[in-house]
Amino acid sequence: MATASPSCGKSAVDDGCGQAGNAGPDKVEFDMTILPIPSAVSTPYVGRLAPAPTGALHPGNARTFLVAVLRARRAGGRLILRLENLDHPKVKPHAAAECYRDLRWLGLDWDEGPAASFPPVRGNDPAGDQFVQSERSALYRTALDRLRQAGAIYPCVCTRKDLDQYQSAPNAGEDLRERRYPGLCRGRFRDGAVAAACAGREPAWRFRLDDDATVAFDDGFYGRQCGRPGEWSGDFPIARGDQAGYQLAVVVDDHAMGVTEVVRGDDLLASTQRQILLYAALGLTPPRFYHLPLVVGPDGRRLAKRHGDTRLSCLRQAGRGPERLLGWLAWSCGWSESLREMSFNEVESAADFSKIPREPAVLTPEDAAWIGF
Ligand code: GLU
Repeated sequence: MATASPSCGKSAVDDGCGQAGNAGPDKVEFDMTILPIPSAVSTPYVGRLAPAPTGALHPGNARTFLVAVLRARRAGGRLILRLENLDHPKVKPHAAAECYRDLRWLGLDWDEGPAASFPPVRGNDPAGDQFVQSERSALYRTALDRLRQAGAIYPCVCTRKDLDQYQSAPNAGEDLRERRYPGLCRGRFRDGAVAAACAGREPAWRFRLDDDATVAFDDGFYGRQCGRPGEWSGDFPIARGDQAGYQLAVVVDDHAMGVTEVVRGDDLLASTQRQILLYAALGLTPPRFYHLPLVVGPDGRRLAKRHGDTRLSCLRQAGRGPERLLGWLAWSCGWSESLREMSFNEVESAADFSKIPREPAVLTPEDAAWIGF
């Protein structure tokens, strides 16, 4: 799991000695070195829940979503639910519907989202599709074109086997299985068509990282973060052919949906550095970020099946109420002195974001049994 990187004592502005952006009328300002620090809070607050329908919700997702909902409510803002369903092999047919039910069971609510996420009264709203990533490919293609024009991305035809030969140390980022891309296709092809003809298939598109680019931002929870993604990530993929992947889609969507604060797990802290570079390359201002520690098992590893069945749907389908899980979530956030049942309203009144511990929340087998898993 990623941990928050300590402040490096440099500001993004101090670091700026950058290569100036190109200028053409159709081109975006592109500067890998000076990075925009999210500007003053834009109002009104717009937050988002961004579940991926790849599995069941567990207390880890629930904790992040609870905080996201409470921050939006506290700010008197609006909350969007966006379905992140681009990870095709892993998307499960009924997971989205189950996720909406689980969230509602827990007492969480949102203002806009996929049509299917609303009760029948709003269920026929066709506009809801705009909150489903698989319906938004035209927007991602436009962003890809802009990045291509700006020379910010290049086609890559490397196979897993090619990359295996260049295996390097796991990065310090959110995904330890990921390896630093050694840049094999950098400068190799004139354009995507040449790459496709050479490989006989659609190339991936990688974002060109400047090794020296320092990304700095002020995380709402962890404070100042800064790092050099060029050191640990290498040029990272953002699309295959015209199909955007997570990093690009999330940037395009958070911007297009007017999101002012992204609340999510700290396993994505390293991704945030990459996303800030994408914002810069697209000439966009990033939202604010608020990364939360994850829920882990007693072994310190991210909550997973090996820790037992902790799906929210088990509690819901067994006819239990959410009060024990809410009580545990509130207790883990430091909002309750003791572990006890709590209603959503009680949790909302008790919520104090400054009390959330910086350490991961450990769900012990005793806690899980108390909750009812
Ligand atoms: N869809 C991602 C997930 O379910 C969250 C991405 C994000 O919040 O940016 O883990």
